[in-house]
Amino acid sequence: MDNDTCKVEGCDRLIKIKRLGLCGAHYHRQVRYGNPEGRTLNHGNAHLTADMARQILSRYNATKHLPQRHPDRVKLRTLAEEFGVAISTISIMVRGQTWKHLD
Ligand SMILES: [Zn+2]
Repeated sequence: MDNDTCKVEGCDRLIKIKRLGLCGAHYHRQVRYGNPEGRTLNHGNAHLTADMARQILSRYNATKHLPQRHPDRVKLRTLAEEFGVAISTISIMVRGQTWKHLD
């Protein structure tokens, strides 16, 4: 990031989460809704590509044998942040309710 303000257009609050370039409020929406604008894009997983889903699942599956609190275990929240989707989307996915057809 070359500036210190949130990357969301029209938002001039200071960046709180450097990695994502978002202010606190937009970060919150990013985590909650999967996008910083806080809108539901299409429905469910429509904005999540099959490729992203595969990556998310492989990242999650790589450490899922570790105990819940193990520091090396990939957390749903981490994946949600990295891929810019809602935690609920990831949680549903890893429980095998969607994207089953990828296997
Ligand atoms: Zn913002």
